[in-house]
Amino acid sequence: MQASMFNVRVPLDQVGQGDDVFLMNTFTDAQLIVSREVATLLDRVGAGALPATAEERDALTTLSEQGFIVEDRETERRSIEQHFRDVRESQDQLRVTVLTTLQCNFACDYCFQGDHGDYNKFAAKMSLETAAEVACWVEDRLDAVKPQTFTLTLFGGEPLLNLPVAYYLAERLWQAAQARGVRMALNVITNGLLLTPEVVDRLAPFGLNAVKVTLDGDRDVHNRMRPLRGGQGTFDKIIENVRKVAGKCRISIGGNFDESSVDSYPALLDFLREQEFADKIARVAFKPVIREPKPQQPKGLIPLTVLGSEGKPLNGTCMTSAGGGTSICDNCNFLDEKMSFLREETKKRGFSTVDGVHMGPCEIHRRHAHTIGPDGALYACPGFTGDAKQSTGHIDGRSEAARNRAATQFEALAAWKECNDCAFIPVCAGGCTVAAHTELGSMHRPNCHKSSFEAGVISMARDAATRELAAFN
Ligand code: SF4
Ligand code: SF4
Repeated sequence: MQASMFNVRVPLDQVGQGDDVFLMNTFTDAQLIVSREVATLLDRVGAGALPATAEERDALTTLSEQGFIVEDRETERRSIEQHFRDVRESQDQLRVTVLTTLQCNFACDYCFQGDHGDYNKFAAKMSLETAAEVACWVEDRLDAVKPQTFTLTLFGGEPLLNLPVAYYLAERLWQAAQARGVRMALNVITNGLLLTPEVVDRLAPFGLNAVKVTLDGDRDVHNRMRPLRGGQGTFDKIIENVRKVAGKCRISIGGNFDESSVDSYPALLDFLREQEFADKIARVAFKPVIREPKPQQPKGLIPLTVLGSEGKPLNGTCMTSAGGGTSICDNCNFLDEKMSFLREETKKRGFSTVDGVHMGPCEIHRRHAHTIGPDGALYACPGFTGDAKQSTGHIDGRSEAARNRAATQFEALAAWKECNDCAFIPVCAGGCTVAAHTELGSMHRPNCHKSSFEAGVISMARDAATRELAAFN
């Protein structure tokens, strides 16, 4: 017997909540508040000491049942390997993200493409013919995988700039899912400018689950970060649009911050809290801006993510959610300290947000999660869509050496194997592969933001202690 390598503990006096200890096992997701004596039992078990009293034996039984104590390290390592295999092969869900267009009506401060006035002339847009082929491909996957749920996410560019394809895919794939008895959820990730009640009403019958809208700070900061191509601000229009649709669908608010904008987020949260639609916001989660690495970064720039190796930009994939999102995913691009700060500020105002611990494994680790570009190219995750070399296939089934090589490479991803006995492996899996590829030059190396997980656990401990206290009063 020994303590699980996936145990984490937070002495509650660290968060001003008494003398007990918060225990969590990131593999079983068990969470307990125990006395210090019980917590030290885990150490004694690890040192080979046997329980001395009946009380200790009872405590050990509970700890074993919840996964805090395991047979031995080798068995546990085999279990986590099997777990990742199970995640990869799981047929419970089919997830498909479609980039309906790479065109965008914004000129975001942090988006490479925003610098190009002629960008939309060259940005790809999915045709209705390709959309029909996408639909056939998805129907084949539904038949092969037979999932319980099918999640379709419309993304871009700005997906609402290609409404015919958005409506076509939503309606046809809803019918396909219905015919097969599969639950379908439709998500849209949009900059919000074209989000109208008409769009929502049109998509609502086809399983519309959530619309994710991006606000990059309070009014002034957002208008600086996310202007129109002509430079005009967009904040007021987006808020007006959200107000009009808030009662019709789940709204999730995302945002991208950097050192220059992070301090405006509490004001944004206050503003949102004051709105009559505040209680209709399903989730609020912010993440750092994605920027291409530069040899000399300006002071204050957060040197995180980065899509586009060899100085290449994203080729139009919206950087709002690349690497992160309703979500494409909120898993990557942590700026640990600021992320924790904004998470606590968000919670303080009563909005639901990510807990900073249950962050993965992300969809790149799932065989039945796909991203499709406007031309029908397949990718392992939305973060790689800016780099054609990373395409893993095509919906028309063509076999090309480069795509086959890329597919083999993604198949072999297991960066977490370099993470030794890190307690966060089950919820991290070695971090964001896109960030590892761009920042570290290898998608097979861990991209570690462990302090962000640690801050998340401390926050969970505080919340658990508060709940326990409330239950006793
Ligand atoms: S690899 Fe990164 S960008 Fe891709 S799904 Fe995972 S967390 Fe998101
Ligand atoms: S990347 Fe870091 S936090 Fe994630 S599993 Fe590896 S060591 Fe742990």
